[in-house]
Amino acid sequence: MQGKTKNYKLIRNMTKKNALLALLMVIATGMQAQKPAIPRDAALEAKIEKTLSKMTLDEKIGQMLELNLDVMGKMTVENAKVDREKVRQVMQQFGAPKSQMDEVMSMTDQQIIDRMGNYPVDIYEGSTKRVWKLNEMMLDTLISKWKVGSILNAPGTRAATVAQWQEWIQLIQKKSMKYIGIPDIYGLDHNHGVTYTQGGTLFPQPINLGASFNTELARTGAEITAYESRAANCPWVYNPVVDLGRDQRWARIWESFGEDAIVNSKMVVAEIKGYQGDDPNHIDQYHVGTSTKHYFAYGAPWTGKDRTPAYLPIQILREKYFEPFKQAALAGTLTMMVNSASINGVPVHASYEYLTKWLKEDLQWDGMLVTDWADINNLYSREHVAKDKKDAIRIAINAGIDMSMDPYSVDFCILLKELVQEGKVSMSRIDDAVRRILRVKYRLGLFENPNTGGKGFEKFGSDEFAKKSLQAAEESEVLLKNEGNMLPLAKGKKILLTGPNANQMRCLHGGWSYTWQGSKAEDLSEKYNTIYEALCNKYGKDNIILEQGVTYNEDGAYYDENEPQIQKAVDAAKGADVIIACIGENSYTETPGNLTDLWLSENQRNLVKELAKTNKPIILVLNEGRPRLIADIEPLAKAVVDILIPGNYGADALVNLLAGDANFSAKMPYTYPREINSLNTYDYKVSEEVGTMAGAYNYDAKVSLQWPFGFGMSYTTYEYANLKVDKSQFTADDILTVTVDVKNTGSRAGKEAVLLYTSDLVASVVPDNKRLRDFTKIELQPGETKTVTFQLPAKNLAFVGADGRWTLEEGDFVLKVGNQTVGTACTQTKVWDEPNI
Ligand code: BGC
Repeated sequence: MQGKTKNYKLIRNMTKKNALLALLMVIATGMQAQKPAIPRDAALEAKIEKTLSKMTLDEKIGQMLELNLDVMGKMTVENAKVDREKVRQVMQQFGAPKSQMDEVMSMTDQQIIDRMGNYPVDIYEGSTKRVWKLNEMMLDTLISKWKVGSILNAPGTRAATVAQWQEWIQLIQKKSMKYIGIPDIYGLDHNHGVTYTQGGTLFPQPINLGASFNTELARTGAEITAYESRAANCPWVYNPVVDLGRDQRWARIWESFGEDAIVNSKMVVAEIKGYQGDDPNHIDQYHVGTSTKHYFAYGAPWTGKDRTPAYLPIQILREKYFEPFKQAALAGTLTMMVNSASINGVPVHASYEYLTKWLKEDLQWDGMLVTDWADINNLYSREHVAKDKKDAIRIAINAGIDMSMDPYSVDFCILLKELVQEGKVSMSRIDDAVRRILRVKYRLGLFENPNTGGKGFEKFGSDEFAKKSLQAAEESEVLLKNEGNMLPLAKGKKILLTGPNANQMRCLHGGWSYTWQGSKAEDLSEKYNTIYEALCNKYGKDNIILEQGVTYNEDGAYYDENEPQIQKAVDAAKGADVIIACIGENSYTETPGNLTDLWLSENQRNLVKELAKTNKPIILVLNEGRPRLIADIEPLAKAVVDILIPGNYGADALVNLLAGDANFSAKMPYTYPREINSLNTYDYKVSEEVGTMAGAYNYDAKVSLQWPFGFGMSYTTYEYANLKVDKSQFTADDILTVTVDVKNTGSRAGKEAVLLYTSDLVASVVPDNKRLRDFTKIELQPGETKTVTFQLPAKNLAFVGADGRWTLEEGDFVLKVGNQTVGTACTQTKVWDEPNI
């Protein structure tokens, strides 16, 4: 980096012609100087070349296809009875037009089963037993004839047992080695634990890890998930997710670590180490390959709805959305999965610029890019940038896609072969893609050991892992309000427990838990405690009155609620000293999780309003995947805890925290809005907050928040002092050392997340009001003080200018930690030509 800086200064003192020559030199040296994101291992590369040299075109193309396991088997049903309401809902969720719906509704049960029965959807009455069976002959054909290189998913998107995974994946590997001599790479959405493996350990969702501000927890969670995945013979997980939850309406913001680029960057690096271990070239049998997703800017749909277009300026793309993916590449993520939607009109699956230039060339990242679900097809069927499937394959493969997740068809193999034969996709592009796929398989040790599991995996689903998940949950639930020290809640009081989230596991573990949507999994999560059960364990069953008032309709869409019974809850409140109202959302993910109104459901708000009339103190427990607006009921509560989606031990954690047996230490991972027209993020532009301009109209531009990003309370108090920076003036190559003293001034031990922000006071592009630059979490005993030190490279204060180049401008900066601020100044403007600095 320093070499490049010197070259830049040289250019400024030269004639135009010389400068041009020098520029070419910079580009040339820059390219040479760009180190591969993952260091190359010569022996491994030689193996790749040897294998590649022996492969036929059919074998190469087959490696580039990933199929859904469902096509290799059949969901057999016993006593099949179709539930037409479920059929209607499934079709509605997937956006089927009315004409199609009418057609299906007029069919017999058997016709409906023939049409939809093999898809991963539940269309049956409760008494129907579904059993998935692998069809060995079909598997044989797919591997021997089509040379398929990868398979994904759980049958019917429902968790299987370790024994089933062992049986299925071993068979797949046996056939792959027999017919192709190349192992399969099996992928699962093991997102916050082993989603699709029964009996494993589920951690809190990533949004909670973001709230914990504790990267160690993220690493530990990933390590456990890797171990338990390998126990189930699965070497590849579709995680971590670093989409940046910057649009509070989007259905997937809980799948990443929140709205900030630095939080996501530090968490993703920690998780990649946890999943893959320390050496991406040699991943052992207890670690797995990652697929960091969804590359990139997926979480910014203009409409707020999943998989709809994003319109983003280069500054936000480069500075924010790209950053965690860049860090993931540099930390050695083996693969990435691509964003299904489009940025500024270009579907990411069709973008040479983003896939090949930004990732593979600029970062010299030699990993593998896999599409998201059927997304090459979507280039013609949804995005209309291709005229048919063949055209879509041409565009995507030439843009830089290496593997197509084309779940239900082998057309990809036929059409891509034609494209190669017609010269529309070059052989060198195919070889590049296949090299990347082989590289992942070699790095994962699959050639030597296609199967893992069995002996040595005794910790699967152990108490040791459960304790870690509980600790993560305790560190991730956020105390947002505690009027008159309402909490901790002493024992001996009568508690009315109410609200739809009070007594079910589904909303605690959330989506991607046992099933895709997290629904219909009660039989697999029975052994864990709901909030009701955890409260009974802690406060005694006799002290808990359960009257929910509002409940979810488990047979409907995630937002469907049953007829409310608010009066029952109000009556029950009469016998209680305190009310705990557990409100929020049921589980969902992806497009089925779309919403049309960010306000919390009217039924739930009415429940709280009616209960408030009893004058009993109310504790609100928010259990939700995104910040649903509650401005009208928040003032009615004495205390508020946002538990987000805390996983299987989330209720035990909550009760430990409510009782004061554990201390709160989490902070909001995203901005909680108060109003629908004030959906800001914490790093809003200074010009978004100009206050009220008094006059005839009293018009305003105000940032109106319920709770800001980074806000969270504790049972103890902290005092910040002596914020110092070692340089009052700096230039781009400097590193600023920032120190601050943090003291626990309360009477209880606690953990405190210490957040370092900076503000650029004047810049040629309207500056963000503040930006998080670093954070750490420390533990303090009562009265104890610790000095926290941050090393902040000055170049991290640069922004992307109007011309798209990284720029650090002369002028004043303010550093902020807690309530402390200190100034420093950049004395020399610098503009970089490199895309990454
Ligand atoms: C989701 C991905 C997931 C993939 C495979 C897609 O629909 O967007 O996050 O990894 O399916 O299940």
